[in-house]
This record gives sequence, C-alpha cells and structure tokens, in this order.
Amino acid sequence: MSNQGQIIVLSGPPGAGKSTIAERVRAEMPELAYSVSLTTRDPRPGEVDGKDYHFVSQEEFQRRIAAGEMAEYEEIFGNLYGTSEKVIRQALAQGHDLFLDTDVNGAEQLKKRFPEGVFVFLLPPSPKILEERLRGRGTEEEDNLRQRLDRVRYEVGKAGNYTHLVVNDDLDKAVDEVKAIITAARRRTERHQQLLAEFLAL
Ligand code: ADP
Ligand code: 5GP
Repeated sequence: MSNQGQIIVLSGPPGAGKSTIAERVRAEMPELAYSVSLTTRDPRPGEVDGKDYHFVSQEEFQRRIAAGEMAEYEEIFGNLYGTSEKVIRQALAQGHDLFLDTDVNGAEQLKKRFPEGVFVFLLPPSPKILEERLRGRGTEEEDNLRQRLDRVRYEVGKAGNYTHLVVNDDLDKAVDEVKAIITAARRRTERHQQLLAEFLAL
C-alpha cells in the first residue's frame, strides 16, 4: 500500500470558495490529479466544458449511471452532479492523489469506500460573508440564490463527517492551509512502508 494515492475531497456550502480554492491548489500542486465532475446544469458565463465541469444532458448522465460509470452522484438544485469511476481508479492506480469537489452526500458515499481519505470542509468566516460572496459572484438568479442559501444549514450539519475544517477568510491563507493538509496526509507513516521496509532489510 506504500505508493498508493489517496482521495482529497473538498466540500462546503455554495459560496464557500471551493471552486476558487480548487483552481489555486490545482495550479500550485500540479502533481495532484483532479476529478472534473459531470453535471447536467447549464454552464455559467466563463465556465469551460472539460475544465470546470463536463456538461452533459440528463440522458447522457442517466446512461452513465446505468452503465455503472459513476463512483458517486447526487441531485442538487434539480441537477445531477457526479464523479466518474474511471477517473478515481486511474488516478489511484497510478499512485496519484486525487482532488475532488463534491457536496456532503457525495463525500459520504466516498468516505465509505475510502475511509483513509482526506475530507476537507470549507467555510467562509460568517454566514453574512457567505451570503455577500454568493451575491457578489453574481451568477445566480434570486430563486437559485435562495435555494443555495437554504442548503447551507444542511451542508454545515454534516461538517462533523470531515477530517479537517478550513475557514476561507483570507484566500491566500486558506489555499496554504488546504495545501498543508494535503502535504500532511502524504507524510502519514502508512504511506511510507516501502522506505521503512528497505531500512528494516539492512
Ligand atoms: P463555491 O465554489 O464554493 O460555490 P466560489 O469559489 O464560486 O464558491 O466563491 C464564491 C464567491 O466568493 C466568488 O465570487 C469568489 O470570487 C469569492 N471568494 C472566494 N474566496 C474568497 C475570499 N477568501 N475572499 C473574498 N472573496 C472570495
Ligand atoms: P455549483 O452548481 O454551485 O457548481 O455546485 C453545486 C453543488 O454541487 C456544490 O455543493 C458542489 O460541491 C456539488 N458538486 C460539484 N461536483 C460534484 C460531484 O462530482 N459530486 C457531488 N456529489 N457533488 C458535486
């Protein structure tokens, strides 16, 4: 098990800063594999297919579920979101750590399968700032915004399932903290059995 990669899941309520932080961590830790989720929702202005999400139709998503191609999926705000099974398997088989952004239910499904994974919950410094940031992002109609704000309590209620919690106040600090958590996970003793065995064989 020495060189096997592990999963690093980032969750948090809408507006917590997951996309912003994921983009920075991906740029600053290029060795990390990243799972681009599938979704049936429409792209927001500026979102790029294949980078932010794989944008697919309901029919295509349903076909993939039926074919067993989804490691986990959830319906959120009337759209399906999910992670490809193949992406997880390939990354871990190649010994890469895999970074993913899922909602709390997706994370729960993954934790059953990867109990040794790293599960990071992200929160802004206060509910007020969360709402300001979500409104400031300017991507949502009022109805969608309300839906997202209504979901905050539900998501935060599941924060106890996570191994780490990061407060996204100053962005640079939050990015550094997520990177530090990933680095610390790589230093877990059980990931270095091969090196230890070499020394024990002296
Ligand atoms: P999520 O992906 O969790 O829904 P986003 O990454 O889209 O959240 O962030 C929501 C909004 O808050 C965006 O407009 C983003 O630019 C802004 N934002 C994220 N982190 C910070 C921060 N530390 N300080 C100020 N604004 C931030
Ligand atoms: P948004 O529409 O704001 O990009 O994302 C809405 C929600 O979908 C967020 O809570 C986000 O974490 C979640 N999400 C994004 N990708 C996935 C995924 O692959 N699986 C699951 N279960 N949730 C996801």
